[in-house]
Amino acid sequence: MKDREPFIKERLFCPGPTPVPIEAKIAAVSNSVYHRTEEFFSTFYQCRQLLAPIFGGAGLPLILTSSGTGAMEAAVVNLTQTEDEVITVTAGKFGERWHDLTSAYGCKVHTLEVEWGSAPRAEQIVGLLKKHPKTKAIFIHANETSTGVYFPLEKFLKEIRKESDCLVVVDAISALGAHEMRMDDWKIDCVVSGSQKGFGIPPGLSFIALSDRAWQQISKREKFYFDLKKEAKGQDKGASAFTPASSLIASLRVSLDKLHEYGIAQVLEHHRNMAHAVRDGILALGLDLVVKENFSHSLTSVWVPQGIDGSLLLKSLKDRYGAVFAGGQEKLKGRILRFAHLGFSDRFDVLSGMAALEFALKDVGYQFDVGAGVTALMKSLTQ
Ligand SMILES: *Cc1c(COP(=O)(O)O)cnc(C)c1O
Repeated sequence: MKDREPFIKERLFCPGPTPVPIEAKIAAVSNSVYHRTEEFFSTFYQCRQLLAPIFGGAGLPLILTSSGTGAMEAAVVNLTQTEDEVITVTAGKFGERWHDLTSAYGCKVHTLEVEWGSAPRAEQIVGLLKKHPKTKAIFIHANETSTGVYFPLEKFLKEIRKESDCLVVVDAISALGAHEMRMDDWKIDCVVSGSQKGFGIPPGLSFIALSDRAWQQISKREKFYFDLKKEAKGQDKGASAFTPASSLIASLRVSLDKLHEYGIAQVLEHHRNMAHAVRDGILALGLDLVVKENFSHSLTSVWVPQGIDGSLLLKSLKDRYGAVFAGGQEKLKGRILRFAHLGFSDRFDVLSGMAALEFALKDVGYQFDVGAGVTALMKSLTQ
């Protein structure tokens, strides 16, 4: 690390894992409870209760020991049968995951391809539903994390419901905690999320909530680890079917308490403001945003300027300034930088991210007015 001046700290600006508050870290290491005790059952159950308002549903979400993709797989295994017709939407790397998962489980998949960086339009999905009236379920996501676009769910779910009463399953892994979710009001049947995005704890837990309708349509497929009916039976008493990641549960209890202490509405407002401020900063540096409308409140994607090597920029950010940003995936590799601000990131985090970006841009020879990004960001946050 010879390029790094003394005392530079590592800071995370990637869309998962996100910063973990110190109290949640301490809870994880000081935890050594046996998970078949009343004490643990009660913590576990409280976590489920505290998660529910973030999902916007009356039912309590289940907590699984897996990364977010595990909960996505649980949704597919429990809500589809082989040969079921399903619709998925690909607008980036994460939409592909629903396509790949449902295909792996033998579903007949109809995929709507949307340009990366854009959100689908309601009429496109409705069009596909008209073409495939036997569709059993739509698998969609709330936030396409590879580009930073938010899918305006409330708006197009209304249109979808006019056409079909198929199941709607939403990957909200990078959206919960930054975007409003009202699964009951919006008539969503299944919402999944993961611990390392909006929840301020490390990777290893995933969450899944089902509507009453979805519970009534659980598939007869063979299942084992992700048998949600079996999970629900135990978890209603606070007991998971298998050994839970108990240290993460201890962390989760603390981070959920903090989220509720701030107030979920305030947390969402905070993320909206931070996302806005980051966009203002980026534009003031003369850089272009990847997304033109339907901005995610979780992360902001930026085109790497012409003539600049994106991987060098990321390397300089990490090696010299300890700032860990994410690059682009697949066709966007080397071409974009993703600046995440979800989870427990505060205004000083995004300010230091913007400052690090300015330093690193200078290193790679980009011409701009130093301080412009930081200034615009601060102005945005003081309006
Ligand atoms: C991060 C992410 C995932 C994958 O979650 P893992 O925890 O890596 O399994 C899926 N979908 C979206 C939208 C994500 O942001």
